[in-house]
Amino acid sequence: MSAIPTATVSRLVTYLRIVSQLEESGAERTSSDDLAREAHVSAFQVRKDLAYFGRFGTRGAGYSVATLKRELMRILGLTRPYNVAIVGMGRLGEALADYPNLEAYDFRLRAAFDVDEGKVGREVAGLTVRHVDELADVVRRLEIDIAFLTVPSTSAQAAADALGAAGVQGILNFAPTVIDPPAGTHVEPVDFLAGLKRLSFYIQQPKVKEETA
Ligand code: NAD
Repeated sequence: MSAIPTATVSRLVTYLRIVSQLEESGAERTSSDDLAREAHVSAFQVRKDLAYFGRFGTRGAGYSVATLKRELMRILGLTRPYNVAIVGMGRLGEALADYPNLEAYDFRLRAAFDVDEGKVGREVAGLTVRHVDELADVVRRLEIDIAFLTVPSTSAQAAADALGAAGVQGILNFAPTVIDPPAGTHVEPVDFLAGLKRLSFYIQQPKVKEETA
């Protein structure tokens, strides 16, 4: 399989959301034109994105919604459960712990960590907050795959390094800093302030057209 562009991976997530909604509405078939319209990309782009992973459709007949959903989940690795930990149980960490939809795709919240003795030992979303000193031990024992990193920027790299050394494979980094990924760990940034700044750019320059490709 050739290298998959990051933008393609992002669009696959969008296609999965669309086919899941189609399935909920009772639709049995869809097409690259339908997906393109909903995802705001071209039908050529949809076919090109899917072609990285083989052939799913029938020329002229489109795709079976159930098959396409199953294939997208397989490609995205969403056919297995993931054990999740949160590092940094402040405002954001607590809000994420309380988010009810995590388990819809089998992301299972298993552990929560903080350095603040005032937070260690508290119950949040059914979990006892543990001290980060226990991180390596707990991550290995509970086979944590993914961590949400919700610590201040100044602590983010060290916390990411500790997670990587303990065997965590993926980090969703909410701290507004670029993290040098530990060996064997993929880091995915999430930054809502960056989104606000992009919005501000488009609002103050309304004639600038956003590129969708
Ligand atoms: P907060 O101060 O309420 O919480 C941070 C928590 O991290 C505290 O409980 C603190 O004790 C803990 N902490 C500090 N160092 C630690 C370490 N080494 N290991 C474990 N825990 C540690 O902050 P917040 O408002 O919850 O924000 C958390 C982070 O998320 C910040 O970096 C903030 O800038 C960022 N943030 C990102 C977004 C986004 O969209 N990506 C949105 C809001 C906040």
